[in-house]
Amino acid sequence: MSLTQWLIDLEANQAETTENRRYLHAHPELSFQEKETAAFILKTLQGYGITDISTNVGNGYGMVATITGGQPGPTLALRADFDALAITEETDVAFVSKNVGVMHACGHDVHTAALLSVAKVLHHHRKSLKGNVVLIHQHAEEVLPGGAQSMVEAGALEGVDYVFGIHVASNLPKGKIGYAQSYATAAADSFEIKIQGKGGHAARPHQTVDSIMIASQIMTDLQTLVSRKVDPVDPVVLTFSGVEAGGTAYNIIADTAMIRGTIRTLDAQVRAFMKASLIRLAPHIAEIQGGTATVSYIDGYPSVKNTPAEVELLLKTMTGQFGEENVIKLPTMMGGEDFSYFLEEKPGAFFYVGGENNDIQANYPHHHPKFKIDEQSLHQSGQAFLALVAQYLL
Ligand SMILES: [Zn+2]
Ligand SMILES: [Zn+2]
Repeated sequence: MSLTQWLIDLEANQAETTENRRYLHAHPELSFQEKETAAFILKTLQGYGITDISTNVGNGYGMVATITGGQPGPTLALRADFDALAITEETDVAFVSKNVGVMHACGHDVHTAALLSVAKVLHHHRKSLKGNVVLIHQHAEEVLPGGAQSMVEAGALEGVDYVFGIHVASNLPKGKIGYAQSYATAAADSFEIKIQGKGGHAARPHQTVDSIMIASQIMTDLQTLVSRKVDPVDPVVLTFSGVEAGGTAYNIIADTAMIRGTIRTLDAQVRAFMKASLIRLAPHIAEIQGGTATVSYIDGYPSVKNTPAEVELLLKTMTGQFGEENVIKLPTMMGGEDFSYFLEEKPGAFFYVGGENNDIQANYPHHHPKFKIDEQSLHQSGQAFLALVAQYLL
Protein backbone atom coordinates (compact mmCIF):
# COMPACT_ATOMS: atom_id res chain seq x y z
CA MET A 1 0.00 0.00 0.00
CA SER A 2 1.23 3.45 -0.76
CA LEU A 3 0.80 7.06 0.28
CA THR A 4 -0.79 7.67 -3.11
CA GLN A 5 -3.64 5.34 -2.19
CA TRP A 6 -4.07 7.00 1.20
CA LEU A 7 -4.30 10.41 -0.45
CA ILE A 8 -6.87 9.13 -2.94
CA ASP A 9 -8.92 7.81 -0.03
CA LEU A 10 -8.56 11.10 1.82
CA GLU A 11 -9.72 13.01 -1.21
CA ALA A 12 -12.68 10.69 -1.69
CA ASN A 13 -13.63 11.53 1.88
CA GLN A 14 -13.37 15.30 1.37
CA ALA A 15 -17.08 16.03 1.60
CA GLU A 16 -17.26 14.29 4.96
CA THR A 17 -14.14 16.11 6.21
CA THR A 18 -15.72 19.43 5.26
CA GLU A 19 -19.02 18.47 6.85
CA ASN A 20 -17.29 17.50 10.10
CA ARG A 21 -15.35 20.73 10.16
CA ARG A 22 -18.42 22.83 9.55
CA TYR A 23 -20.37 20.96 12.21
CA LEU A 24 -17.58 21.62 14.73
CA HIS A 25 -17.40 25.24 13.65
CA ALA A 26 -21.12 25.72 14.20
CA HIS A 27 -20.95 24.07 17.64
CA PRO A 28 -17.91 25.57 19.38
CA GLU A 29 -17.29 25.06 23.09
CA LEU A 30 -15.03 26.90 25.51
CA SER A 31 -11.84 25.39 26.92
CA PHE A 32 -12.52 22.76 29.61
CA GLN A 33 -16.20 22.70 28.61
CA GLU A 34 -15.93 20.77 25.32
CA LYS A 35 -18.29 17.98 26.34
CA GLU A 36 -20.28 17.78 23.09
CA THR A 37 -17.18 18.22 20.94
CA ALA A 38 -15.50 15.29 22.69
CA ALA A 39 -18.67 13.21 22.29
CA PHE A 40 -18.68 14.03 18.57
CA ILE A 41 -15.04 13.00 18.17
CA LEU A 42 -15.62 9.77 20.08
CA LYS A 43 -18.70 8.88 18.05
CA THR A 44 -16.88 9.61 14.80
CA LEU A 45 -13.81 7.53 15.70
CA GLN A 46 -16.02 4.64 16.82
CA GLY A 47 -18.01 4.96 13.61
CA TYR A 48 -14.77 4.32 11.72
CA GLY A 49 -14.26 1.12 13.69
CA ILE A 50 -11.55 2.45 16.01
CA THR A 51 -11.92 0.85 19.43
CA ASP A 52 -8.72 1.61 21.34
CA ILE A 53 -9.83 4.97 22.73
CA SER A 54 -9.25 6.60 26.12
CA THR A 55 -11.56 9.44 27.08
CA ASN A 56 -11.28 12.15 29.77
CA VAL A 57 -7.50 12.01 29.57
CA GLY A 58 -5.92 14.69 31.75
CA ASN A 59 -7.76 17.62 33.31
CA GLY A 60 -10.65 17.70 30.86
CA TYR A 61 -12.15 16.05 27.80
CA GLY A 62 -8.86 15.01 26.18
CA MET A 63 -8.95 11.84 24.12
CA VAL A 64 -6.27 9.42 22.96
CA ALA A 65 -6.92 6.78 20.30
CA THR A 66 -4.46 4.24 18.96
CA ILE A 67 -4.33 2.63 15.55
CA THR A 68 -2.15 -0.46 15.81
CA GLY A 69 -0.31 -1.32 12.64
CA GLY A 70 -0.07 -4.76 11.07
CA GLN A 71 3.69 -4.85 11.50
CA PRO A 72 6.01 -3.72 14.27
CA GLY A 73 7.65 -0.31 14.14
CA PRO A 74 7.75 3.08 15.79
CA THR A 75 4.75 4.88 17.22
CA LEU A 76 3.89 8.28 15.81
CA ALA A 77 1.55 10.65 17.66
CA LEU A 78 -0.49 13.29 15.84
CA ARG A 79 -2.13 16.03 17.84
CA ALA A 80 -5.16 18.21 17.14
CA ASP A 81 -6.69 20.57 19.70
CA PHE A 82 -10.46 21.15 19.80
CA ASP A 83 -11.42 24.07 22.07
CA ALA A 84 -12.92 27.41 20.97
CA LEU A 85 -12.83 30.98 22.29
CA ALA A 86 -15.12 33.42 24.07
CA ILE A 87 -15.69 35.54 20.98
CA THR A 88 -18.92 36.42 19.17
CA GLU A 89 -18.49 35.38 15.55
CA GLU A 90 -18.86 38.10 12.92
CA THR A 91 -18.23 36.15 9.72
CA ASP A 92 -20.66 35.55 6.88
CA VAL A 93 -20.12 31.78 6.63
CA ALA A 94 -23.20 29.56 6.34
CA PHE A 95 -21.98 27.42 9.24
CA VAL A 96 -21.57 30.35 11.63
CA SER A 97 -21.42 29.55 15.35
CA LYS A 98 -24.73 28.56 16.90
CA ASN A 99 -23.33 29.04 20.41
CA VAL A 100 -23.59 32.79 20.89
CA GLY A 101 -20.43 34.26 22.36
CA VAL A 102 -18.30 31.23 21.50
CA MET A 103 -16.32 30.86 18.30
CA HIS A 104 -13.75 28.64 16.66
CA ALA A 105 -11.57 31.68 15.99
CA CYS A 106 -8.24 29.87 16.04
CA GLY A 107 -8.96 27.04 13.61
CA HIS A 108 -9.01 24.15 16.07
CA ASP A 109 -12.15 22.89 14.29
CA VAL A 110 -9.96 22.46 11.20
CA HIS A 111 -7.26 20.53 13.08
CA THR A 112 -9.83 18.19 14.58
CA ALA A 113 -11.74 17.46 11.37
CA ALA A 114 -8.49 16.88 9.48
CA LEU A 115 -7.22 14.41 12.07
CA LEU A 116 -10.53 12.53 12.13
CA SER A 117 -10.33 11.87 8.40
CA VAL A 118 -6.68 10.90 8.71
CA ALA A 119 -7.76 8.41 11.37
CA LYS A 120 -10.38 6.98 9.03
CA VAL A 121 -7.89 6.44 6.22
CA LEU A 122 -5.19 5.01 8.48
CA HIS A 123 -7.55 2.66 10.29
CA HIS A 124 -8.68 1.32 6.94
CA HIS A 125 -5.06 0.71 5.88
CA ARG A 126 -3.76 -0.28 9.32
CA LYS A 127 -2.47 -3.69 8.18
CA SER A 128 0.15 -2.02 5.98
CA LEU A 129 1.50 0.19 8.79
CA LYS A 130 4.94 -0.67 10.11
CA GLY A 131 4.22 0.77 13.53
CA ASN A 132 1.37 2.55 15.25
CA VAL A 133 -0.37 5.88 15.17
CA VAL A 134 -1.62 7.63 18.29
CA LEU A 135 -4.28 10.27 17.76
CA ILE A 136 -4.18 12.96 20.42
CA HIS A 137 -7.39 14.98 20.48
CA GLN A 138 -6.55 17.70 22.97
CA HIS A 139 -8.96 19.86 24.93
CA ALA A 140 -8.29 23.35 26.30
CA GLU A 141 -5.30 24.74 24.47
CA GLU A 142 -6.43 28.36 24.79
CA VAL A 143 -6.73 28.76 28.57
CA LEU A 144 -4.05 28.22 31.22
CA PRO A 145 -3.03 25.71 32.50
CA GLY A 146 -4.06 24.11 29.20
CA GLY A 147 -4.83 20.48 28.52
CA ALA A 148 -1.54 19.26 27.07
CA GLN A 149 0.53 19.06 30.25
CA SER A 150 -2.14 17.07 32.05
CA MET A 151 -2.55 14.71 29.08
CA VAL A 152 1.18 14.03 29.12
CA GLU A 153 1.01 13.38 32.87
CA ALA A 154 -1.90 11.01 32.28
CA GLY A 155 0.24 8.95 29.91
CA ALA A 156 -0.85 10.20 26.49
CA LEU A 157 2.69 9.76 25.20
CA GLU A 158 3.37 6.34 26.68
CA GLY A 159 4.98 4.20 23.99
CA VAL A 160 5.13 7.14 21.60
CA ASP A 161 8.40 7.74 19.73
CA TYR A 162 7.61 10.93 17.80
CA VAL A 163 4.95 13.61 18.07
CA PHE A 164 3.74 16.11 15.49
CA GLY A 165 1.21 18.92 15.67
CA ILE A 166 -0.22 21.36 13.16
CA HIS A 167 -1.75 24.78 13.29
CA VAL A 168 -3.60 26.40 10.44
CA ALA A 169 -2.56 30.01 9.87
CA SER A 170 -4.62 32.88 8.48
CA ASN A 171 -1.42 34.83 7.85
CA LEU A 172 0.18 32.17 5.65
CA PRO A 173 -1.15 31.88 2.07
CA LYS A 174 -3.21 28.77 1.31
CA GLY A 175 -1.18 25.97 -0.15
CA LYS A 176 1.89 26.83 1.92
CA ILE A 177 3.45 24.87 4.75
CA GLY A 178 5.36 26.91 7.34
CA TYR A 179 7.90 25.66 9.81
CA ALA A 180 10.40 26.99 12.34
CA GLN A 181 13.88 25.56 12.50
CA SER A 182 14.00 25.24 16.26
CA TYR A 183 11.76 27.42 18.44
CA ALA A 184 8.28 27.75 16.98
CA THR A 185 6.88 29.82 19.84
CA ALA A 186 8.20 31.67 22.88
CA ALA A 187 7.41 31.07 26.52
CA ALA A 188 5.13 33.86 27.69
CA ASP A 189 5.00 34.41 31.45
CA SER A 190 3.34 37.29 33.25
CA PHE A 191 3.71 38.93 36.64
CA GLU A 192 2.34 41.49 39.03
CA ILE A 193 4.42 43.37 41.60
CA LYS A 194 2.54 44.99 44.47
CA ILE A 195 4.52 47.71 46.21
CA GLN A 196 3.67 48.97 49.63
CA GLY A 197 5.21 52.30 50.67
CA LYS A 198 3.99 54.86 53.15
CA GLY A 199 1.88 57.67 51.78
CA GLY A 200 1.98 61.26 52.89
CA HIS A 201 2.22 64.91 51.92
CA ALA A 202 4.17 65.72 48.77
CA ALA A 203 5.95 68.53 50.58
CA ARG A 204 7.29 66.20 53.31
CA PRO A 205 8.85 63.26 51.43
CA HIS A 206 11.20 62.48 54.34
CA GLN A 207 8.18 61.33 56.35
CA THR A 208 7.04 58.91 53.64
CA VAL A 209 8.13 55.88 51.66
CA ASP A 210 7.45 56.81 48.05
CA SER A 211 5.96 53.79 46.27
CA ILE A 212 6.39 55.46 42.86
CA MET A 213 10.14 55.82 43.42
CA ILE A 214 10.31 52.16 44.40
CA ALA A 215 8.38 51.17 41.28
CA SER A 216 10.72 53.23 39.10
CA GLN A 217 13.78 51.69 40.72
CA ILE A 218 12.43 48.17 40.28
CA MET A 219 11.69 48.73 36.59
CA THR A 220 15.08 50.27 35.90
CA ASP A 221 17.05 47.66 37.81
CA LEU A 222 15.15 44.69 36.35
CA GLN A 223 15.84 45.84 32.79
CA THR A 224 19.54 45.38 33.53
CA LEU A 225 18.82 41.65 33.87
CA VAL A 226 18.16 41.68 30.14
CA SER A 227 21.01 43.99 29.19
CA ARG A 228 23.70 42.80 31.64
CA LYS A 229 22.90 39.31 32.88
CA VAL A 230 21.59 37.30 29.93
CA ASP A 231 23.78 36.16 27.06
CA PRO A 232 23.00 38.56 24.18
CA VAL A 233 22.40 35.64 21.80
CA ASP A 234 19.46 34.44 23.94
CA PRO A 235 16.34 36.47 23.17
CA VAL A 236 14.50 37.93 26.16
CA VAL A 237 11.74 40.47 26.27
CA LEU A 238 10.89 42.09 29.58
CA THR A 239 7.98 44.48 29.18
CA PHE A 240 6.30 46.48 31.91
CA SER A 241 2.89 46.81 30.40
CA GLY A 242 1.16 48.58 33.24
CA VAL A 243 1.95 50.80 36.19
CA GLU A 244 -0.66 52.08 38.59
CA ALA A 245 0.09 54.49 41.41
CA GLY A 246 -1.16 57.74 42.87
CA GLY A 247 -2.45 60.35 40.52
CA THR A 248 -5.37 61.52 42.64
CA ALA A 249 -3.75 64.84 43.53
CA TYR A 250 -0.51 66.79 43.04
CA ASN A 251 0.26 66.95 46.71
CA ILE A 252 0.04 63.29 47.70
CA ILE A 253 2.87 60.76 47.76
CA ALA A 254 1.43 57.42 46.69
CA ASP A 255 1.03 54.80 49.38
CA THR A 256 0.98 51.83 47.00
CA ALA A 257 1.98 51.01 43.44
CA MET A 258 1.38 48.11 41.11
CA ILE A 259 3.52 46.99 38.18
CA ARG A 260 2.33 44.47 35.60
CA GLY A 261 4.37 42.93 32.86
CA THR A 262 5.39 39.99 30.78
CA ILE A 263 8.59 38.04 30.19
CA ARG A 264 9.12 36.28 26.86
CA THR A 265 11.94 33.82 26.44
CA LEU A 266 12.93 30.91 24.24
CA ASP A 267 15.53 29.04 26.28
CA ALA A 268 14.23 27.21 29.37
CA GLN A 269 17.24 28.13 31.52
CA VAL A 270 16.99 31.80 30.63
CA ARG A 271 13.32 31.63 31.47
CA ALA A 272 14.02 30.13 34.89
CA PHE A 273 16.77 32.72 35.55
CA MET A 274 14.47 35.64 34.71
CA LYS A 275 11.69 34.34 36.91
CA ALA A 276 13.93 33.65 39.89
CA SER A 277 15.70 37.00 39.54
CA LEU A 278 12.49 38.99 39.39
CA ILE A 279 11.04 37.22 42.43
CA ARG A 280 14.29 37.69 44.37
CA LEU A 281 15.21 41.26 43.39
CA ALA A 282 11.94 43.20 43.49
CA PRO A 283 11.47 42.81 47.29
CA HIS A 284 15.14 43.73 47.91
CA ILE A 285 14.88 46.90 45.87
CA ALA A 286 11.73 47.90 47.74
CA GLU A 287 13.37 47.14 51.05
CA ILE A 288 16.32 49.44 50.33
CA GLN A 289 13.85 52.31 50.23
CA GLY A 290 11.91 51.15 53.26
CA GLY A 291 8.95 49.56 51.49
CA THR A 292 7.91 46.08 50.50
CA ALA A 293 7.19 44.38 47.20
CA THR A 294 5.20 41.21 46.65
CA VAL A 295 5.53 39.36 43.35
CA SER A 296 2.91 37.07 41.87
CA TYR A 297 4.25 35.21 38.87
CA ILE A 298 2.13 33.30 36.37
CA ASP A 299 3.89 30.66 34.31
CA GLY A 300 2.62 30.60 30.74
CA TYR A 301 3.26 27.74 28.34
CA PRO A 302 6.90 26.88 27.69
CA SER A 303 8.34 27.61 24.25
CA VAL A 304 7.65 25.09 21.50
CA LYS A 305 11.04 23.66 20.57
CA ASN A 306 11.21 21.41 17.53
CA THR A 307 13.92 18.76 17.51
CA PRO A 308 16.51 19.00 14.67
CA ALA A 309 16.20 15.51 13.16
CA GLU A 310 12.40 15.67 13.03
CA VAL A 311 12.43 19.16 11.49
CA GLU A 312 14.75 17.82 8.83
CA LEU A 313 12.46 14.89 8.11
CA LEU A 314 9.40 17.15 8.18
CA LEU A 315 11.08 19.43 5.66
CA LYS A 316 11.97 16.53 3.39
CA THR A 317 8.45 15.13 3.63
CA MET A 318 6.68 18.44 3.00
CA THR A 319 8.89 19.49 0.09
CA GLY A 320 8.41 16.04 -1.41
CA GLN A 321 4.65 16.28 -1.03
CA PHE A 322 3.95 19.93 -1.82
CA GLY A 323 7.04 21.19 -3.67
CA GLU A 324 9.96 23.21 -2.40
CA GLU A 325 8.29 26.52 -3.34
CA ASN A 326 5.41 25.78 -0.97
CA VAL A 327 7.45 25.14 2.15
CA ILE A 328 8.44 28.29 3.99
CA LYS A 329 10.79 28.79 6.90
CA LEU A 330 9.21 31.10 9.47
CA PRO A 331 10.62 33.05 12.40
CA THR A 332 9.63 32.22 15.97
CA MET A 333 6.07 33.36 16.71
CA MET A 334 5.68 34.99 20.12
CA GLY A 335 2.20 33.57 20.81
CA GLY A 336 1.86 30.74 23.32
CA GLU A 337 1.02 27.11 22.44
CA ASP A 338 0.90 24.21 24.87
CA PHE A 339 2.09 21.71 22.26
CA SER A 340 5.41 22.53 23.96
CA TYR A 341 4.60 20.00 26.71
CA PHE A 342 4.51 17.17 24.17
CA LEU A 343 7.86 18.23 22.72
CA GLU A 344 9.40 18.39 26.19
CA GLU A 345 8.78 14.62 26.36
CA LYS A 346 9.30 13.32 22.82
CA PRO A 347 11.08 14.40 19.65
CA GLY A 348 8.89 15.96 17.02
CA ALA A 349 7.80 19.21 15.43
CA PHE A 350 4.99 21.72 15.25
CA PHE A 351 4.23 23.26 11.88
CA TYR A 352 1.79 25.54 10.10
CA VAL A 353 -0.65 25.01 7.25
CA GLY A 354 -1.57 28.13 5.29
CA GLY A 355 -5.22 29.16 5.07
CA GLU A 356 -4.99 32.78 4.01
CA ASN A 357 -7.10 33.82 1.05
CA ASN A 358 -7.83 37.48 0.43
CA ASP A 359 -10.63 36.65 -2.06
CA ILE A 360 -12.83 35.34 0.76
CA GLN A 361 -11.49 37.66 3.49
CA ALA A 362 -9.67 34.77 5.10
CA ASN A 363 -6.96 37.10 6.36
CA TYR A 364 -8.05 38.33 9.79
CA PRO A 365 -5.76 37.43 12.66
CA HIS A 366 -6.47 34.43 14.85
CA HIS A 367 -8.82 35.25 17.78
CA HIS A 368 -10.56 37.95 15.70
CA PRO A 369 -14.41 37.87 15.42
CA LYS A 370 -14.01 37.86 11.62
CA PHE A 371 -11.37 35.09 11.64
CA LYS A 372 -11.83 32.83 8.64
CA ILE A 373 -9.68 30.17 7.09
CA ASP A 374 -9.63 28.79 3.54
CA GLU A 375 -10.75 25.17 3.67
CA GLN A 376 -7.92 24.16 1.39
CA SER A 377 -5.94 24.16 4.65
CA LEU A 378 -8.33 21.52 6.01
CA HIS A 379 -7.48 19.09 3.23
CA GLN A 380 -3.81 20.01 3.16
CA SER A 381 -3.58 19.37 6.91
CA GLY A 382 -4.82 15.83 6.31
CA GLN A 383 -2.39 15.34 3.44
CA ALA A 384 0.49 16.62 5.56
CA PHE A 385 -0.37 14.26 8.42
CA LEU A 386 -0.62 11.29 6.05
CA ALA A 387 2.65 12.15 4.34
CA LEU A 388 4.37 12.20 7.73
CA VAL A 389 2.88 8.86 8.72
CA ALA A 390 4.03 7.40 5.42
CA GLN A 391 7.52 8.76 6.03
CA TYR A 392 7.76 7.01 9.40
CA LEU A 393 5.57 3.93 9.02
CA LEU A 394 5.62 2.70 5.43
ZN1 LIG B 1 -5.59 30.43 19.65
ZN1 LIG C 1 -4.68 27.74 18.30
